[in-house]
Amino acid sequence: MKRVRFAPSPTGNLHIGTLRTALFNWLFAKRYNATYVLRIEDTDKARSKPEYEDNIYEGMDWMEIVEDEGPKKGGKFGPYRQTERIVEGIYQKQLNRLLEEKKAYYCFCTDKDLDAEREEAKQKNRPYIYSRKCLRLNPDEIADKLNSEISRTVKFEVPDTKSLIVSDGVRDDIDFDCSLISDFVLLKSDGNPSYNYSVVVDDALMEITDVIRGEDHISNTPKQLLLFKALGFTPPQYHHLPMILGQDKSKLSKRHGATAVTDYESQGYLSDALYNFLALLGWSPTDTTEIFDRASLSTLFSMDRISKSNAVFDVTKLKWMNGQYIRSLSESALSEKVKPFLDDASNAILAEYSESDVSKIIYSVRDNLALLPDINGYLESFNTSFESFSEKVKGFQFTDSERQVVLDFCKNILEYSDITSENVSKTMDIIVEKNDGKKGKVFKPIRKALIGLERGPNIVEILTLLGRENLSKRASFLNELFSV
Ligand code: GLU
Repeated sequence: MKRVRFAPSPTGNLHIGTLRTALFNWLFAKRYNATYVLRIEDTDKARSKPEYEDNIYEGMDWMEIVEDEGPKKGGKFGPYRQTERIVEGIYQKQLNRLLEEKKAYYCFCTDKDLDAEREEAKQKNRPYIYSRKCLRLNPDEIADKLNSEISRTVKFEVPDTKSLIVSDGVRDDIDFDCSLISDFVLLKSDGNPSYNYSVVVDDALMEITDVIRGEDHISNTPKQLLLFKALGFTPPQYHHLPMILGQDKSKLSKRHGATAVTDYESQGYLSDALYNFLALLGWSPTDTTEIFDRASLSTLFSMDRISKSNAVFDVTKLKWMNGQYIRSLSESALSEKVKPFLDDASNAILAEYSESDVSKIIYSVRDNLALLPDINGYLESFNTSFESFSEKVKGFQFTDSERQVVLDFCKNILEYSDITSENVSKTMDIIVEKNDGKKGKVFKPIRKALIGLERGPNIVEILTLLGRENLSKRASFLNELFSV
């Protein structure tokens, strides 16, 4: 059985690019029936914060990506938080093996020593390779230093392999010359394992079969492969996903708008839309279809259709897609999603309606919404406030025939004791017929006079929802206004 992992570092709010990595691992798990592991890589103690870890969970919950194993869920390969694995001595145990087998060594060089070496390499225009000064220390010197207070790291002795082939599920094999890779740190001076080291120990011990992550990790891959070999573990298959760029083709950053997943939630995107949109950032189906629900993505997704070229984050397309998803919601689902985004003015307008009419009102304007808060721009038509209505109507000009249309409509509609959409439609039809079948000549003045707006959602729906009491009040006002 295949096993994949999503391994975020809680050093900031969950980034939209990181969510794409999670999603591709998740889709892989769905498609190939793999186990999806969540591992929290919190070894950077200075930058890792519990609130960022919470933000990761919040993003995952919102996206409905549910891990099979993880810090909260547990599992037989735990613990799943690296700081807990440090406490259990998991990294130390493997490190001792590397030290005993002389594949790793203590380094006592100070930052100053190393900076000087780096500077020298820069001056000579050479890639930086550690001098291996500490590899040449004799056992007594090492023992002395270990017994002292001198700060130390453990470094990996990079073998002299001229050609290390990294096979990648997405792109062509990459051939690395290891003589250009400097010995690198496994255990940092603060006693914590380095990223490259902990990730290998964890991927190995958690029996991860496929590593799916961003292309920015390609340069780490040879180091990780060398460590797999040195530890005698079988490496996973690597798959590096293309980068996500902003529309100006530079790396996606704050400049391009929101980068934190939770910001998308608070801006009124639906998680189904973001899920669909992100799936298309680096993967494409065999045809030009763009709207996929979660279930079809789980069956259609395939690793052989992941692109090598960078994906562009097109916010306009995301908004369009969000609108499509909004329109596909049921009346009750839309109402539930929209309610947290209603502003005070909208709430005041809707307070005049019953719960079920509120849902109908929200549903009637769905075609206008790209983001959920857009609702606030479309509720004025439903405002039952007589004052705001009468002020607006007084500002409009009406021709004599328009006045006649309005008064006819008012008279006819108020003959019904119950204002239903059928009654409104029927009345409209009668007036249209009386006016030589010219809809525009009828709808426009009625909208202006009875709603006080020149544009807005379907007039039959609005008039029905306004109800008899409002219409009757407005009709008396119009009778008076038009009689002078
Ligand atoms: N914690 C690493 C990151 O957030 C994971 C890298 C990897 O997938 O190997 O970038």
